[in-house]
Amino acid sequence: MKKKTGPGHAAFHVNQETERRIDKLLAKMTLKEKVGQLTQRGKITSKEREMVREGKIGSFLNLRGPEKVREIQRIAVEESRLGIPLLIGDDVIHGYRTIFPIPLGEASSWDPELMEETAAIAAGEAAVDGIRWIFAPMVDIARDPRWGRIAEGAGEDPYLCATIARAKVRGFQRIREGGGPTAACPKHFAAYGLAEAGRDYNTVDVSELRLRQTYFPPFQAALEEGAATIMAAFNDLNGIPCTGNRWLLKEVLQEEWGFPGFVVSDWCSVYELVSHGNAADREEAARLAIGAGTHMDMHARVYPEHLPRLAAEGKVPETAINDAVRRVLRVKFWLGLFDDPYPQAGGGETVFLRKEHREKAREAAGKSMVLLKNEAGLLPLDPSLASIAVIGPLADAKSDLLGCWAGQGESSDVISVLEGIRQRVGPDTDLHYVRGCDVDGDDESGIAEAVKAARKADVVVLVVGEGADMSGENHNRTSLDLPGVQPELVRAVHGTGTPVVLVLINGRPLALPWEDRHISAILEAWHPGTEGGRAVADVLFGDVNPGGKLPVTFPRSVGQVPIYYSHKKTGRPEMKSYADSPVTPLYPFGHGLSYTRFEYRNLRLSVTTGSLDEPLTVTVEIVNAGERAGEETVQLYIGDVAARITRPVKELKGFRKVFLQPGERREVSFIVTPEDLGYVDEKGRFILEPGMFRVWVGPDSARGLEAAFERVKREEMA
Ligand code: BGC
Repeated sequence: MKKKTGPGHAAFHVNQETERRIDKLLAKMTLKEKVGQLTQRGKITSKEREMVREGKIGSFLNLRGPEKVREIQRIAVEESRLGIPLLIGDDVIHGYRTIFPIPLGEASSWDPELMEETAAIAAGEAAVDGIRWIFAPMVDIARDPRWGRIAEGAGEDPYLCATIARAKVRGFQRIREGGGPTAACPKHFAAYGLAEAGRDYNTVDVSELRLRQTYFPPFQAALEEGAATIMAAFNDLNGIPCTGNRWLLKEVLQEEWGFPGFVVSDWCSVYELVSHGNAADREEAARLAIGAGTHMDMHARVYPEHLPRLAAEGKVPETAINDAVRRVLRVKFWLGLFDDPYPQAGGGETVFLRKEHREKAREAAGKSMVLLKNEAGLLPLDPSLASIAVIGPLADAKSDLLGCWAGQGESSDVISVLEGIRQRVGPDTDLHYVRGCDVDGDDESGIAEAVKAARKADVVVLVVGEGADMSGENHNRTSLDLPGVQPELVRAVHGTGTPVVLVLINGRPLALPWEDRHISAILEAWHPGTEGGRAVADVLFGDVNPGGKLPVTFPRSVGQVPIYYSHKKTGRPEMKSYADSPVTPLYPFGHGLSYTRFEYRNLRLSVTTGSLDEPLTVTVEIVNAGERAGEETVQLYIGDVAARITRPVKELKGFRKVFLQPGERREVSFIVTPEDLGYVDEKGRFILEPGMFRVWVGPDSARGLEAAFERVKREEMA
C-alpha cells in the first residue's frame, strides 16, 4: 500500500495504531451498530435523530448548514452508546461558497497547481460547515457532449484527467491549519461517462481493454495520490451494475490496486440494483452490493433494513461487514473526527468569499477561458471605445454563471459579464445593454431592439450559451446548438455589420459551425463562477492574455459524436466517412489561441534509434513572435506506429506551460520514458514493444512539429 504525503496534503493510508483502536471498537459493536456505520442518510427527521442515538447511522450528506451538523453530531458523540462521530459529506464540486469555474472549464487551464489551490479553498470553506468528505473530483472520461455531466469532469483525455485528478485530491485532502484533512471521493467508478446515447444513467458496454486504457487511469491516479474513498457509479457495466459489480469493486479496486479506503454507493444505487433488474428485491440488493464491495449505502436504507438480519442468519458473512466497518472507521480516525467532530467555531463569515478566495476565483476563471477564434485581431478591445453594445440572455446573468452543482454559491455574490465590463470601461464609453431573447424558448420579439443597439455601437459583446440547468446530472441534450432562438439573435446582430465578439457561457462543447464561419471573435468562457464577469472583462480588454486550451474536442455537429483526438486508425485512413460533413472536428482537443503568436521551431530528439528502456529527450524551441507577453501550453503527443494491439493515432504524454515576453525564446524539453511508449493490455499487464514511434510537439492535438524514432531491444543495440 502506498503511503505518500506531499507538502501539506494527507494521503490516506493504513496505520497500525489506528487498526488496533478499530479492533477494540469492533469488538464492542453489535451487528446493528456495525451496519449503522455503513448507512448514510440525506436528510434529518425525528426518525434519523433516533437512529443516530441508537448508532444506526454513520454518515449524512448534503445537510447544508453548520447548525444541523452540530446538532446531529452532538447526538452521535454524546448520546449514542459508543459515541462514534458521523462523517458529513457534500457535493463540493467546484467551490462551496466561492464558486470557481465548472470543472470542465477549470480543466481548460491545464494548470494543476491552480486546481489544487481551488480544491483546497473549496474544502476549507466546506469544513467551516463541518463537511469533511467531498464527493469529488469527478474523474469520468467524457467524450459525448450530449451527456450533461461532461461539465463536471476534466474532459476526454486519460492523461490530462489523471493529472487533474491528482491535483484535486491533493487540494481536497490538504491539511488545514488547526484542523485535519478532508476526504476526497473520486467518482463515479466506472465508465459512467460512456452512457449510451449520452443519456445519463444509461447502459455501458465496453471492453476490458478500453476500461483499463481509458477509463481507469484517472481513478488509479487519484488513489495513488491517496484518495480516501471512491463512489460506485449508477450504470450497468458489461451486464452488472457497478454497485453490485464484484469484479470491479473487489477484484480490481481492492485486490489488484490495494485500495484501503471505502466505497460509497451513489444516491440510492444499492436499491437501484432492483430497478436495473439485477436483484429481485431489496434483500437481494443488500446481499449483492455488500458482497461486491460497496461499503456504504447512500440514502437507500437497504443496508439498515436487511444486513443485520442477513448477517445474523449467516446469509452475509459477518467478516464482510467487519471489513466494511473497518474501512469506514479508518477514514473517520484518519480525519481526526474522534478528536474534533464539530464544525469550526466562528462560522463562515470569516472564511467564505474571502478576498483571496475571490481573487483565486477570478484568476481561475481567466485561465479557464479559451479563445476559439480571433480574426483580424478584433480582441482585445480598447476600454476607451466610444460605445459597446452588450447583448444576450446571459450578458447580465448571475446564477447561470455559477453552473451546475454550485454548492452554497449565491447569485447575489456573482459579478455578471455586464457588471464586469461596466467596472472596466472608461467613463466616456457608452454601454448599451439589451437582453435580446431568453436562453431557451421561441420568443423573438426582443431581437429587433438588439439589432438597433448593435447598429449604433462600435462593437458588440454578445453573450449566449446555456443556462446552468442545461448541464450536470440528468441534464442531457440531443442538440449541441445554441438553445432557443439564440441562433436567430446571433445572425441578426451579425447582420448589422458591427463587429461581434461572441462570449459563450456553457457546460459542454457546442457545435457552432455557422458562428465559426461568420463571427470574428469567439471566447469560450464556460460557466465561470462567482468572479466570472470580471474575468470575462479581464480577457476582453486584454488585462489577461487568454491561454486556455480545450480539454475536449468541439464537434461540427452532434452527428460526429463521439469524436476525440486519440481515436484508433482505420484500415482506410484516406477514406472520408461522412457524405455531408468533414470528419475533422470544429476545434480540436488542446486548441486555444492567444493575443500573441507562438512559434514552434527546431524539434530535436536525443536519440532516434535507442533501446527500449532508455529515456529519450524531446526538445523544442518556443518563440513569442507577437507583441504581448503570454503563456503557451506546449503539448507532447506520441503515437505507436504498430503494436500487437492497435493503438490510438496519438496520445497526450506531457505538457508544459511557458510564459514568454514578446520576442522571448525558450527551449522546452520532455523526457519520454518507457512508460510513455508502452501500453496496458486487456489484463492490465504493461506491454512495451519495440518498433517505430511518432512524436509531435505543438499548440494542440492537430498541429505541431513531428519526428519519428525507433526503439529496439537492448540485445539488438550492439
Ligand atoms: C450523483 C453524485 C452525487 C450524489 C450525492 C448523485 O445523484 O450522481 O455525483 O455525489 O448524488 O449528491
